[in-house]
Amino acid sequence: MSDTAADTRPDRPVVTRFAPSPTGFLHIGGARTALFNWLYARGRGGKFLLRIEDTDRARSTPEATQAILDGLRWLGLDWDGEAISQFERAGRHAEVAQAMLASGAAYKCFATSEEIEAFREGARAEGRSTLYQSPWRDSDPGDHPDAPYVIRLKAPREGETVIDDAVQGHVRFGNEQLDDMVLLRGDGTPTYMLAVVVDDHDMGVSHVIRGDDHLNNAARQVLVYRAMGWAVPVFAHIPLIHGPDGKKLSKRHGALGVEEYCRMGYTPAGLRNYLARLGWSHGDDEVFTDAQALEWFDLEGIGRAPARLDFKKLDHVSGQHIAMADDAALLHDLESWLAATGQPALTEAQRDGVLQAMPHLKDRAKTLFQLYEKAHFILLERPVAPDEKAAKALDPESLSMLRELTPQLQTASWTRHELEAAVRDVAEARGQGLGKIAQPLRAALAGRTATPSVFDMMIVIGREETLARIADATA
Ligand code: GLU
Repeated sequence: MSDTAADTRPDRPVVTRFAPSPTGFLHIGGARTALFNWLYARGRGGKFLLRIEDTDRARSTPEATQAILDGLRWLGLDWDGEAISQFERAGRHAEVAQAMLASGAAYKCFATSEEIEAFREGARAEGRSTLYQSPWRDSDPGDHPDAPYVIRLKAPREGETVIDDAVQGHVRFGNEQLDDMVLLRGDGTPTYMLAVVVDDHDMGVSHVIRGDDHLNNAARQVLVYRAMGWAVPVFAHIPLIHGPDGKKLSKRHGALGVEEYCRMGYTPAGLRNYLARLGWSHGDDEVFTDAQALEWFDLEGIGRAPARLDFKKLDHVSGQHIAMADDAALLHDLESWLAATGQPALTEAQRDGVLQAMPHLKDRAKTLFQLYEKAHFILLERPVAPDEKAAKALDPESLSMLRELTPQLQTASWTRHELEAAVRDVAEARGQGLGKIAQPLRAALAGRTATPSVFDMMIVIGREETLARIADATA
């Protein structure tokens, strides 16, 4: 017997899901899985559902669930309807196990853990497979004891189960490798393998896109679909993300929660774009909009080799998104970032200044952190305290240049062209280049020597504030 999943039905509405276990934060790999499911569904007018796999009560916490919801919201991955709790569906899972029992697709197994262990030891000693073969598989219900039991799947022992995976291709599993797995435990609680299938079926999931660490599970899960006569979804098992060195992703590599990426100053749009490219490609396109990603995303574009997390690329993509973002939207992102990192909120005046300066600020800022650094001169209060380098730049010769510049600035019309001419004149009158006066000017206006262009700064803060800061520095 050879059984090939999936029952691809062209008329089936597209429904995908993200099914995290709430045992930690929404890590970057999970975020990518969620994004792929979101893109696939949303790009096809389908539904994207969220199921919290909280059946493991010992490891699941409400804090982790909250962190996952927050992470998805921050990343802009909205789901349809309410998030579903797997734990709350335990009754339904048990019902399906009972239905399988009734149809003969499953059976009651009364073996004790000692008996199972003895079986395994014997199998090991004889060099046989240690997959448990229950003596109760074909037993007569009339012979059943009044004792605790589990419900096991009556899995085929011969032939093979083939997963027709949209990413991995045809993957064959000899049925002798698939044991009569437990569906319902002795205490009546469902196993993970049963719960996943029942939930995916009941939620109408048409496409299961998840990490390839679940590929082996798929073969066993298919047996449950078959036993229930349910349509098998399309499976797409995506390679896990590796570190830049090609090794399994670790904390050192950036295997962090998405909230850490938020704190580092990446924007949701930039991170979405970067994550979409992590294992999926559309020609040579590196930087694209959500609309393009939604139009382009497909399962064919997912590669079979593990993608490598690369912060240089992430910075590049992030910078491109900041540069092309709408100014007001970027201000909103900046304010969210300030809140997320516990920094003071912008005052009304600071907001206006930042917004006005945004076209200058967003040029060549890779992260919101860098954007904020560039905006430093707008957020200052007089008198500006120079840092060490800036203090050095305010030497007597420089201060006298700034004093000379003052009357020019009082009368210049406040355009880039005129400001540049005024500043250049003062420097040239002393046989100096523009750089010689630009440095103390930066120090006076921003208290730093690494700043946006002095002319951009002057235009943004205006004549009055420019003259006041110069007066403070030369006083
Ligand atoms: N809860 C599983 C996990 O977090 C995912 C199961 C699935 O996608 O089928 O790895």
